[in-house]
Amino acid sequence: MSKRRKKTFERKVMEESFCPPPKECNYRCSVCGTELLVNEAIVDAGIGMAKFSKEYYEGYLSKVGCPACNNYTTECVE
Ligand SMILES: [Zn+2]
Repeated sequence: MSKRRKKTFERKVMEESFCPPPKECNYRCSVCGTELLVNEAIVDAGIGMAKFSKEYYEGYLSKVGCPACNNYTTECVE
């Protein structure tokens, strides 16, 4: 419960601040369950690469490599 309250508070601060910090997305590996925060710039880079390789589609979620099991299976969970 306290964790949820903290997150809501952080989001409120981000909305009110004039110059918000870079957004981070909550990612989780679908193989081993490792969670990590991925900077929006990295997410955008992944989308750019998908567009370049013609794999992009509407609602595309870029994946990142998992640091724990080395599979390319870590997806956004939000
Ligand atoms: Zn993993």
